[in-house]
Amino acid sequence: MTTSTSTSCPLCNSNALSLISQDERHRRSFYLCPDCDLISVPPQYHLSRTDELARYALHDNSLSNKGYVDFLSEVADVAVNIASEMQHTAGLPINDPMERPVKLLDFGCGRDAVLCGLLVRRGIECYPYDPLYEGLRRLPDIVDGYDIIVAGEVVEHLRGVEGELRFMSGLLREGGAIILRTRLYDDAGLGADGGGEGFKNWWYAQDPTHINFFSRKTLDRVALIVNKRIEETGRRDIFVFR
Ligand SMILES: [Zn+2]
Repeated sequence: MTTSTSTSCPLCNSNALSLISQDERHRRSFYLCPDCDLISVPPQYHLSRTDELARYALHDNSLSNKGYVDFLSEVADVAVNIASEMQHTAGLPINDPMERPVKLLDFGCGRDAVLCGLLVRRGIECYPYDPLYEGLRRLPDIVDGYDIIVAGEVVEHLRGVEGELRFMSGLLREGGAIILRTRLYDDAGLGADGGGEGFKNWWYAQDPTHINFFSRKTLDRVALIVNKRIEETGRRDIFVFR
């Protein structure tokens, strides 16, 4: 299928998108960008904010959900490692994180901001931010920028993803790091065309709140936007941009 669309790629602005798959159940279509490999769902198919919030409310993303806490601990470990490296580089004792708290922003933290709860216990000064929730919409006044920004399972939900990445990058101090967590479609064996018609059956694409899907090549474009290099973490769904 190569039906063209007037929609442009939300990551690189290419106009040459092609329709690769249609999900009748969720009444939406997936378009592949030939330049950056992003697969996206055009705005006319996005959920309303009310429906989007209703979907999130179905998840038990709280501190009492062990599965969720274990899941977050994986990204917390990566953040703590980077924080330790930053302290080490600054010549501070690596085992004394309270000596110079690393300032971290949890971008798109969710209603209960659980990751911040975990990180504060580990000596990191964590600030929650989520424009979808009352009380989490205001960014704290940080004069010299954040050391680390975490966006865990966030980029696949973002409308205007390029602008949001640039915004993130502007909040970071010089030499800071961005940690992104998202599933890559090529990692799921879906190939360079996103698996074509079969894409809609991938569990990640079945979530109607997911509107952006990345491949490894797409991450190169992200690195360009945030002006950083990608570092491997040993986890297939967690990437550091530094
Ligand atoms: Zn693109």
